Amino acid sequence: MEMGNMIFGHSRGNYSIDRDAWSNVFFDEFIYEINADAYGCINGKCEYENDTFKLKSYDWDSECTCGLEDLIDKWWEDKVHKDDCYQMELIREKIKHGWTIDISGSIERPPQNMNFEKYSKIEDKIYKKLCKKYNLPREGCAVHCTCGLDSSFEEWVKDKNHKSDCRLIQPNFLYKPTGFNIMWYKYALRDSYINQNISLDEFREILRDCVKSYYEDKSKGVIKLIKSITLVSAVFDYDNKHNMECLGILDENNDKVIGTIYFDKEFGIEEFLKNYAIVKIERKEDK
Ligand SMILES: [Zn+2]
Ligand SMILES: [Zn+2]
Repeated sequence: MEMGNMIFGHSRGNYSIDRDAWSNVFFDEFIYEINADAYGCINGKCEYENDTFKLKSYDWDSECTCGLEDLIDKWWEDKVHKDDCYQMELIREKIKHGWTIDISGSIERPPQNMNFEKYSKIEDKIYKKLCKKYNLPREGCAVHCTCGLDSSFEEWVKDKNHKSDCRLIQPNFLYKPTGFNIMWYKYALRDSYINQNISLDEFREILRDCVKSYYEDKSKGVIKLIKSITLVSAVFDYDNKHNMECLGILDENNDKVIGTIYFDKEFGIEEFLKNYAIVKIERKEDK
């Protein structure tokens, strides 16, 4: 996980993904298809939803709205590591070498009179010494706990979850039919996690369905629009890219396309023409 995401972000999930491979598919077969940008915004709108999917850009001001974070803070309120815990010895060592650390240990400042290179060297020595003393791996040297406090927290928190409507855990992409979702950090598919272990091919399948639903949804808007005008002309065309028939609706002077209606088998052009008084339809090739 990226450090920025770990500290400030909220991209989490059961499975991580291969960013390059998934990004290529997501952008080429979905984001560009619906004219969205790298954040997942469409025409500046950063939240889109239809019956099939929901797309929501990264929430920069996200915070827990379900109370779990407060509960966690409360748990830690009256807890401290034991005196002989690695954590406490680390704090003592750092203070001895000029660090200032506040009472809860959460904010620490390196010695003011040293540059980064110098105090990093000292820090490195402290970690080396303590890891050796406690026989612990170097990985996690800033957070090791040997008094059991961290593990009792893990035990306490393991069955606690954010409520499904908590702002902190809202996915950036949701496919409604299966509940498959993606969370990302700042940009679409950066440091991303998914909730269901699906293959890239299954992902493609989902995106195809979403693109189709997006254009169907757009079409509904155009249909609403032409209901309100009496005289329309239309140009019939075939959209090879999306494999859909489409109808470009022209304005009253027949020179401006005011909207395009996309059709697939379930939402057929024949059925449509029965219900709407389009006065003139021509094929694009005829022009
Ligand atoms: Zn929450
Ligand atoms: Zn401890």
